[in-house]
Amino acid sequence: MKYSSEINKRKTFAIIAHPDAGKTTLTEKFLLFGGAIQTAGAVKSNKIKKHTTSDFMEIERQRGISVATSVMTFEYRDVLVNLLDTPGHKDFAEDTYRTLTAVDSVVLVIDCVKGVEEQTEKLMEVCRMRDTPVIIFVNKMDRDGKNPFDLLDELEEKLNIKVRPLSWPINGGTDFKGVYNLYNKSFVSFLPNKKATDDDIVPLADLSSSYVDEHFSAKDAAQLRNDVELIEGVYDPFDNKPYLEGKQAPVFFGSAVNNFGVKDLLDTFVEIAPVPRDREASTRPIAVGEDKFSGFIFKIHANLDPRHRDRIAFLRVCSGRFERNKFYHHVRLDKDVRFSNPYTFLAREKNVVDDAYPGDVVGLFDTGNFKIGDTLTEGESFYFTGIPSFSPELFKELVNKDPMKTKQLEKGIRQLTDEGVAQLFTQHGGNRKIIGCVGDLQFEVIQYRLLQEYGAACQFNTLPFYKACWITGNKQKIEEFTRFKQANIVEDKDGHLVYLAQSEWYLNTERTNNPEIEFHFTSEIH
Ligand code: GDP
Repeated sequence: MKYSSEINKRKTFAIIAHPDAGKTTLTEKFLLFGGAIQTAGAVKSNKIKKHTTSDFMEIERQRGISVATSVMTFEYRDVLVNLLDTPGHKDFAEDTYRTLTAVDSVVLVIDCVKGVEEQTEKLMEVCRMRDTPVIIFVNKMDRDGKNPFDLLDELEEKLNIKVRPLSWPINGGTDFKGVYNLYNKSFVSFLPNKKATDDDIVPLADLSSSYVDEHFSAKDAAQLRNDVELIEGVYDPFDNKPYLEGKQAPVFFGSAVNNFGVKDLLDTFVEIAPVPRDREASTRPIAVGEDKFSGFIFKIHANLDPRHRDRIAFLRVCSGRFERNKFYHHVRLDKDVRFSNPYTFLAREKNVVDDAYPGDVVGLFDTGNFKIGDTLTEGESFYFTGIPSFSPELFKELVNKDPMKTKQLEKGIRQLTDEGVAQLFTQHGGNRKIIGCVGDLQFEVIQYRLLQEYGAACQFNTLPFYKACWITGNKQKIEEFTRFKQANIVEDKDGHLVYLAQSEWYLNTERTNNPEIEFHFTSEIH
């Protein structure tokens, strides 16, 4: 492989969590270890505290930074780590889902008090679709949380994955003593607000050692010995293979805010997490080691400042070497494009790069040529698969309030939906536009941006749909179905037929009545 040394030193991942579980805090600790930032507090939470558009806009405006924090690259123990940021607000969950298509593994943060929360389950479903390897970090052990064995059961049950603790807590909350690392057989004692240094680590290959009796109460010592015996008996040993296949998730316990257990996690991450791998594409699998460059766009970030209407498209390199100023083939538009100022994001600063390798993310200036999912190659025509749209949860009809501005509205809504802000559905055989989103805040953002950036005033009328289902199957049956169900049939941005169901009951009824038609909750249809 021509670029094997570059490929094998890269690990590209995302931290995912239900809001408030500790993603921002953990990100910051990772960056401190990686030397990418020098002081705590340097990573701004991208969380939207109040549920208002102005709050969102304010945050967006402040962050040109959000472009800089979209990808954070740092080196740790000779590994080049690309950490892809995901939005903190659940209304923008789809952005997170798409980012997950661009990573090779994830670290999932769980709050030990709250356990597996709703958003965690959804994020994990997306990981499961692509068998993404997962490492779990149970955070906030300095708080009185759930029993760790109960937590492990909950993780297995709700996330549909086998778990394997690699560290184990001795108590929790105010009585939290530290963790025993089952992977490299050592004990790390917990000191609040103190950076855990190597000195705090005591090798403890044998738990019958007198150290345990000398340093813990009889109760804690017995508990630790029993727990570890139980773990070794009940859980399969950690194995790289099922981890890399996304079937077994190693679990760590710690406290991000106290920087406790974070180093263990990061050390294990750089050791076991996968380097960039081969990817499925429409015509053939694309080997990561191929000489020729290929990559796809997974995120588009618009600059909301009306004076600088540029956009940055984020390209994930999948094979070969990406080079500045070289012409590449934009498969969907069937035209050649080149980039004179591609960016990388080393140490939170945007830098122009000359080349990039598989696993890297490059920011490309875009004047409206890109849509999410677009593929760039050295000439071959294929597109990467596994970048689906998911059914939105809220549907509203877009109503033009100013007939003089129809063109601007059309253009605006197309560009915003290309960016992935929302999904646009058009009435089958008509021109009615229906916008699908995950959360209400997205509608407010669209309304605001259409007015600010395109001068187009619109309003939204709520529609009584609950799910969008992409439909496939027997051609004649589909034709009949679309005729009968005209009011519920729309087309997505690529012209695929979509059935909008009013409720689960309606959907089930249609499924029963139309056995030759398949209903899918994602646009990616296998
Ligand atoms: P995010 O929404 O997942 O990015 O969560 P943040 O990193 O912003 O953390 C949410 C809150 O939990 C903040 O107030 C953190 O200070 C706090 N937090 C993070 N880690 C810990 C921890 O280990 N223990 C405790 N007690 N609080 C924590």
